[in-house]
Amino acid sequence: MNARNEPRRFQGTPVFPGIAVGPVLCLRPVAGSLADRAFTTEAEELRRLDAAVQASEKQILQIKDMAARKMGAQEAMIFEAHQMMLTDPEYLDGIRGEIGQGVIVEKAVQSVTGMFVKILSQSTSDYLRERVADLKDVSQRLIRNLVSSTAELSSTEPILLVAEDLAPSDLMAYSRQPLRGVVLTKGGLTSHTAILLKSMGIPSVFQVKDLDLHALTESGMAVLEARDGRLTLNPGAELLAQAEEQAREEEKRQAALAVWKNKASLMRDNNAVMVCSNVANQSQVDLAFENGADGIGLYRTEFLFMDRSSPPSEDEQLRIYQQALKVAAGRPVTLRTMDVGGDKEISYLKMPKEDNPFLGVRGLRLSLQNRGIFETQLRALVRASESGPLEVMFPMVTTTQELEEVFEILKPMLAKKAPGTPAIKWGMMLEIPSNIFMIPEFSKWVQFFSVGTNDLTQYLTACDRMNPNLHDLSDAYSPGVLRAVHYLAQDVRRCGRELSVCGEMASDPLLWPFLFGAGVQKISQNARLITASREALSRWTLEECRALTERVIRAGSREEARRLLQEFSAF
Ligand code: PEP
Ligand code: MG
Repeated sequence: MNARNEPRRFQGTPVFPGIAVGPVLCLRPVAGSLADRAFTTEAEELRRLDAAVQASEKQILQIKDMAARKMGAQEAMIFEAHQMMLTDPEYLDGIRGEIGQGVIVEKAVQSVTGMFVKILSQSTSDYLRERVADLKDVSQRLIRNLVSSTAELSSTEPILLVAEDLAPSDLMAYSRQPLRGVVLTKGGLTSHTAILLKSMGIPSVFQVKDLDLHALTESGMAVLEARDGRLTLNPGAELLAQAEEQAREEEKRQAALAVWKNKASLMRDNNAVMVCSNVANQSQVDLAFENGADGIGLYRTEFLFMDRSSPPSEDEQLRIYQQALKVAAGRPVTLRTMDVGGDKEISYLKMPKEDNPFLGVRGLRLSLQNRGIFETQLRALVRASESGPLEVMFPMVTTTQELEEVFEILKPMLAKKAPGTPAIKWGMMLEIPSNIFMIPEFSKWVQFFSVGTNDLTQYLTACDRMNPNLHDLSDAYSPGVLRAVHYLAQDVRRCGRELSVCGEMASDPLLWPFLFGAGVQKISQNARLITASREALSRWTLEECRALTERVIRAGSREEARRLLQEFSAF
């Protein structure tokens, strides 16, 4: 066999799990194939620019409509940002200026985009750096319209899309044909593309190392084992058959799991727990309840404040929160007050420039420093609570004094609440290591806790959660992380408070029995996992989970902990 036909394995970071098998469709950057033609006249080059801008605007509008239908108005806002970038006067004037210097329009777009990309890439803000992908998307569309090369897909065969980076609009365009999986050699883990892929449930892996897109054989077969972040090119007949079989099994398993949508979340011994969902907008709330969620365990309200130039008004927020409560129809909805800062920036908010934004003014700290916006959100939440059982929790709480300050702000608002309407249940996230040792003090202020294992793991292991080079060290299977979760769960129980987990640990099937065994009563996760969680927990008793948890916290290494968890789930 020729070496080129040997199976070749590549490793990346999982974004959404699943097995995908299919022919590769590789998107190579358009820039490489740019025509090197002679300059016509300034007027002609400008005319071509205007025509391409108009064509691009029309396409973006169509994609925006499609996104709104497929995924909801909130996701479609991304394309509003594209529209704004496309018609940004500074960007267009830059291109016109280059044309004025005798540069052909395609090259002018390329060079001005390059300049803007450089500025954005050097920004210290992760949010701005990730907008680079949006800008590249807009410029590639412009160039495609200029060189009138339509890279549209004709086939209806399901494909595995491989690219350097993929802008949200490309994802929307390519998802017109069935997408089995998405592989990116770059790709921001918190980018809009990642958020869209998760909400569409497409197996995807980002930041795949050593994959040369130019050497990829178009339409060659590949296997994507997204859960393990693994891509295999030229898989060979045996692996291909194996993966196809696994994918079919997975499909059957998913279909069979559908019966669990309408069942109660009960363990084999009839112990009841709650399987809830994490959401960021109304379309995700709808998806959660379509999948039978017991409630919303984490509504990341900060996403309602993004991709716009001013915060949503009190009435706008009220309508959004009321809509979530309406669809929940009596099931609890836990809204987290805006958790801005760290990697989540909002341009119109007063945010200091910091060397270590994850250790800086974020979460509740930032809300307390932006009192006007915070008070508006609290007022909207209190008013919304008149329509249903609302739970409100605060992110990144460091001290009880902060909670005291919040409840001082809330006092007059709560006094105005319509008599006889449901009381709000108050809670806080456990994300900061020192929180673990202050459960009794915090319990005087809140009725429930929710563990943010993403941040808790990052702070316990001192590994930036955005740094792909540290993923191996910041594993939630580290004995230190597992023991911390077990320890805090014991204390929450002693204090008679409720405990949920809404970080990514709650989306890892291997960790579910450990969490329930530790005393967690609610897990909140991606909506597509709800039925699988319910089926899994119906096979276990609380006693079995407790015994497992006791063994796992004694494990001396991640490998041992993982082995124990795997053995338990295999039965
Ligand atoms: C967490 O930190 O685990 C969490 C759920 O919050 P976020 O991921 O939004 O920071
Ligand atoms: Mg967090």
